[in-house]
Amino acid sequence: MERKLASIQKVAELSPITGADKIEKCKILGWDCVVKKGEFQVGDMCVYIEIDSLIPKTIWSGFLFKEGTTVERYRLKTCKLRGQISQGLVLPIQVLYNAEHSKIDVLGEGDDVSELLGIIKYEPDISPSLQGLMKGSFPCWIPKTDETRIQSEPWLLERKKDASIYITEKLDGSSMTCYLNEDVFGVCSRNMDMTETANSAYWYAARRQQIEQSMRGEERQGWAIQGELIGPGIQKNKYELKEPEFRAFNIYNIREGRYLDLMEFLNTCERIGIPTVPLLGLESVRGNVDFWVEKSKGKSELNPNADREGLVVRGVTEEAIEKYGRFSFKVINPEFLLKNGE
Ligand code: AMP
Ligand code: MN
Repeated sequence: MERKLASIQKVAELSPITGADKIEKCKILGWDCVVKKGEFQVGDMCVYIEIDSLIPKTIWSGFLFKEGTTVERYRLKTCKLRGQISQGLVLPIQVLYNAEHSKIDVLGEGDDVSELLGIIKYEPDISPSLQGLMKGSFPCWIPKTDETRIQSEPWLLERKKDASIYITEKLDGSSMTCYLNEDVFGVCSRNMDMTETANSAYWYAARRQQIEQSMRGEERQGWAIQGELIGPGIQKNKYELKEPEFRAFNIYNIREGRYLDLMEFLNTCERIGIPTVPLLGLESVRGNVDFWVEKSKGKSELNPNADREGLVVRGVTEEAIEKYGRFSFKVINPEFLLKNGE
């Protein structure tokens, strides 16, 4: 299931911002956004676009772009206006009528309109010199990694109240997948299967950490290990590592089409000597979105000088939630996003 970047939502709450008379705070799902005063009423339907979206330059989005610019896509970031954090863009529902499409009439609250509006996800690249060459597209028999922000699906906290979860540190690197399938070992970036080249940071880490031998040493056939690649040249190397390093967060059984449960995942990684993302705790679901945002703040386990990007929270046993998919979400500290210009 793809993450919704733009969707139809209801304006949940409007409240004044101290010292500001032209703008007000608007709550959509679990997000705080700043809107023009009077533009929306509580209960109005609107289009909500999440941070991390790349918005195409078109009739309804023109106001986001500087005049005369040749930039074709606008990257939506966290910002602060009059001391109020704003995450995402709230637009009148009418923007959908600008996007010519026959399906508009059948759309309702919660529906994904990313494709309709031509919105795609911003994905930071690792430095071109470390990227390497593409062998093919990402294998369709392995799910791509992604995480939904809890602010976009706050109902999950109610639905899964008291469920057993584990929390890991969200590392700020680049997604990497290693697979062993039909006797072929492969290494992928988030969106591509990569050729083994001398300059590929993905392959460098895979070789240095002997991931192929480790995977071949197991009985299992048809599986993938997914994790985060961190280190020099990747996302400013905030953990100050000397070498590229892979840290696992998923094991996927390709034959059975499922992720391993936490315990089996941890045992396997330990047995084959592949480090995982830092495990911060085992708990049960409680609190609201604000509670989780507060909890996401802190320093990294990998480097006490680095702020941590956030947390990833998952069910201890894998299960699919209707209309959502795997029970897993991320929570990122808005201050971190501001500080890092995201
Ligand atoms: P984002 O980085 O905002 O696109 O969030 C989703 C991505 O977080 C995934 O695709 C992973 O590459 C990455 N990630 C980093 N740390 C973790 C973790 N502990 N658990 C799961 N995903 C993680
Ligand atoms: Mn990331």
